[in-house]
Amino acid sequence: MEPHIIALDQGTTSSRAIIFNRGGGIVSMAQYPFEQIFPQSGWVEHDPQAIFATEKKALAEAFSLSGLKRTDIAAIGISNQRETTIVWERATGRPIYNAIVWQCRRTAKLCEELAERGLDDPIREKTGLLIDAYFSGTKIAWILDQVPGARERAERGELLFGTVESWLIWNLTGGVHVTDVSNASRTMLMNIHTLSWDEELCRELRVPMAMLPRIVPNSMEYGRIAPGVPGLEGLAGVPICGSAGDQQAALLGQGCIRPGESKNTYGTGCFTMMNTGSTISRSTHGLLSCVGWQIGDRVNYCLEGSVFNAGSTIQWLRDELGLISSAADSEALALSVPDNGGVYLVSAFTGLGAPHWDMYARGVMTGLTRGSTRAHIVRAALEGIAYQVRDMIVAMEQDAGAEMPILKVDGGASVNRFLMQFQSDILQKPIDRPAMVETTALGAAFLAGLAVGVWDSIDDITALRSGAALFTPEMDAAAAEKLCAGWSRAVSRSLKWEQN
Ligand code: ADP
Repeated sequence: MEPHIIALDQGTTSSRAIIFNRGGGIVSMAQYPFEQIFPQSGWVEHDPQAIFATEKKALAEAFSLSGLKRTDIAAIGISNQRETTIVWERATGRPIYNAIVWQCRRTAKLCEELAERGLDDPIREKTGLLIDAYFSGTKIAWILDQVPGARERAERGELLFGTVESWLIWNLTGGVHVTDVSNASRTMLMNIHTLSWDEELCRELRVPMAMLPRIVPNSMEYGRIAPGVPGLEGLAGVPICGSAGDQQAALLGQGCIRPGESKNTYGTGCFTMMNTGSTISRSTHGLLSCVGWQIGDRVNYCLEGSVFNAGSTIQWLRDELGLISSAADSEALALSVPDNGGVYLVSAFTGLGAPHWDMYARGVMTGLTRGSTRAHIVRAALEGIAYQVRDMIVAMEQDAGAEMPILKVDGGASVNRFLMQFQSDILQKPIDRPAMVETTALGAAFLAGLAVGVWDSIDDITALRSGAALFTPEMDAAAAEKLCAGWSRAVSRSLKWEQN
């Protein structure tokens, strides 16, 4: 029997497990959602035990559905929601607080204090990140401040920190405490030059180093499924050999292994990542630098940017405005008019990210006339997603000093052909959408398979990915420029709108 790899794709709203064969084909999969906890406005938590329980259930079910034997499984790889922070007791494995999710804004004030203390530059220089509540560092500090006695216990080495891959590995192996370098690069505590925890930053953020996991490369054996894990008896002894944050795993799963190669994921928001090879690109446009992956001694860096509201804009058209009855309707409606009729929609509902970075920007619709129709507005919403992605990619190319030859895409909204064609038109670049869209899971599986010799070298990933649709520019460059100029004017109206 050929070897198979299991990917655990631990996401923000559900835990999934997918079994891949050597050709990158999906043999079976299972998925379980879990509860989103919103204790206050702007706060988001998960129950760490629910994360583990649903992931375990998905793993057992995918294995059972596959009809494979234990010996057919060569390894397990993990991809995870990044930055989400868990602190647990070393002795019992019990979390001392819920997982604080990446989206949670509760430490915004703490971040302002760090900035006031002049830490902007050192943090950017050492970690490649901008000070933000998004990253794990201040979330750890918050838990240690709020749970009585936690800081002292952490200093004594009684408490452990981990992002979700670390939590899963600990539980699956019965006590291995590691984090992969791609996840560590999102904590605001790791120096991306040395790939080690930074003493000064840990001191500034008041995080005791005794609680931090060992940082490990993305492709190697971390440990094996322990015999005593309830529900996983049939998988005891299977090695866990790969791990990466979800966006990095997707970059790899899309086969973006050379500098300049990039992917964009069109989900609720958009996440764009560009491979910058062994170079840490310094962004002057507010993009983030982080580790893509480390395989052996070779480290691959990347630039990352995000559009806060992408697919969520389509949900808004559906749920709040009632202009469409399903997200899929947006495509036909946009195509029912020859152009946007001069209408632009800037979906800056929660501000604008790179390259504008304006937390006070708010959504605007411009260019309305008595002739503007529902179709124009829906089209403007889809086009607005594509313009935001373009703005970010232009910034990325400038930061990286490299042209992006082609953009690889995935995510729920990438099924929209109008959106993909328009993206290609205004970027004046080809867009490549793969046949198998589970790129995150494929990336995680690949890292694990590489460690156990199922695949020989990183180049093999390109053979596992097959393009299903290629969108090439149909609009001439001058027309694209003209549209983009209109977009820039619309964006200028949205900036600094909120005055508080
Ligand atoms: P996430 O992983 O962020 O939850 P998904 O990758 O599952 O997101 O994508 C879901 C998003 O894609 C939703 O916001 C939805 O509005 C959008 N979406 C789904 N189908 C379409 C479509 N055909 N056209 C435009 N947007 C779509």
